[in-house]
Amino acid sequence: MRYISTRGKAPVLTFEQAMLTGLARDGGLYLPETIPTLDHDAIRAMRGASYEDVAFTVMRPFIGDTFTDAEFREIIAKAYEGFGHDVRAPLVQLGSNHYLLELFHGPTLAFKDFAMQMIGQMFQAALKRSGERVTIVGATSGDTGSAAIEAFRGLDAVDVFILFPQGRVSDVQRRQMTTPSEDNVHALAIEGDFDTCQAAVKDMFNDFDFRDGVRLAGVNSINWARVLAQVVYYFTSAVSLGAPDREVSFTVPTGNFGDIFAGYIAKKMGLPIGELVIATNQNDILHRTLETGSYTTDGVKPSISPSMDIQVSSNFERALFYAYGQDGAAVSEQMDELKASGEFKVSQGAYEALKETYASGRVSEEETSAMITRANATMGELLCPHSAVGVKVAMDHLGSTPMVTLATAHPAKFPAAVEAASGHHPELPDRMSDLFEREERMTELPNDIEKIKALIRERINA
Ligand SMILES: *Cc1c(COP(=O)(O)O)cnc(C)c1O
Repeated sequence: MRYISTRGKAPVLTFEQAMLTGLARDGGLYLPETIPTLDHDAIRAMRGASYEDVAFTVMRPFIGDTFTDAEFREIIAKAYEGFGHDVRAPLVQLGSNHYLLELFHGPTLAFKDFAMQMIGQMFQAALKRSGERVTIVGATSGDTGSAAIEAFRGLDAVDVFILFPQGRVSDVQRRQMTTPSEDNVHALAIEGDFDTCQAAVKDMFNDFDFRDGVRLAGVNSINWARVLAQVVYYFTSAVSLGAPDREVSFTVPTGNFGDIFAGYIAKKMGLPIGELVIATNQNDILHRTLETGSYTTDGVKPSISPSMDIQVSSNFERALFYAYGQDGAAVSEQMDELKASGEFKVSQGAYEALKETYASGRVSEEETSAMITRANATMGELLCPHSAVGVKVAMDHLGSTPMVTLATAHPAKFPAAVEAASGHHPELPDRMSDLFEREERMTELPNDIEKIKALIRERINA
């Protein structure tokens, strides 16, 4: 299996190289050259199988010879053993034809654990074999950073630096990043918003001296291996609702487009998915793009669903690549335009392709709170604000096809918003009930790329 860049000008890589690299050297994102498919019999055979077995079947065709079958099974087993629920991603019914896929039973209570725990185990196995060391740098609007730190803490071949926007993540999210005591964990509080942090990380990857000097590796949602790990739960949930003999639709609370793009990959692999619905909060660039064909940035508005507070949605580039018939030059042109002017217009053909693949909806702050209130009162479900955005949009798309809404975080990660709307204080699971007593450790930095790079150099040479 070979991996190519969405901008067509970076070296073609193996799975292992694409995983360890993250962002391509031409600024693009890696994708498999072709998408392997599973026929209906192979999908039917997933009925009753464990999450781990389905994970093996779905991911195995993508990893080439990076790991043997036995190694890969062990990686999967280790990745999910720390989850607080035996089935890993349980499905609960919300209403007629509407289901909630609970993706928040991992160690940091958000869906990002599904991918990050896999990445941690895969990095460890690959680096142990080669004897190399890497520096992981990531930007986070909250959940990615804690999931990355949880996945890499204590691994000897890795230093992990996480940039988060100071004051713009929840207390639980911040504490999950600042309380691990291992020396290889570095939480950096940056003055600015998520896009500031993301831009700093992009800048480091585009500075090849720095990138090669510290052996930079990226685990942000653009890392292909993360997208791949997220494809699995589309299969487990759809199969439990009757796929491949019945279509299933999905609504996905969306920010950087990694999670919903994994749904698109599942569909390309042969899973009969009806609608794939993008749910956005008031940071609605994706919804506006689907409505108008113009991708226009207009600043971040902080919301009660902060993990979706983005203005540029990085994985959307992968959707564009397919919408443009896998034409890297066309994608590259649009991205240059975005960089220069803050917007671009999707060509007519690509726009039609996007509309054929994705539906979308936008939810205001008031509607999000109202949805939390209503789900608690009438569905017996305490939703986190991100999941509430999804459930609200899904309800506008309910029909004869079963709809699965992805619940992306546990309500206890966002207690203030949940309590204000529902009157219930969501409790942290027992395994992390002492989070607020643990000591915090972080470094505060201005939005100054040279200072950030200098700190990273200093820390890894120390
Ligand atoms: C990251 C995150 C999202 C957005 O996922 P993307 O893959 O970036 O679209 C939604 N909800 C929660 C809780 C998240 O942590």
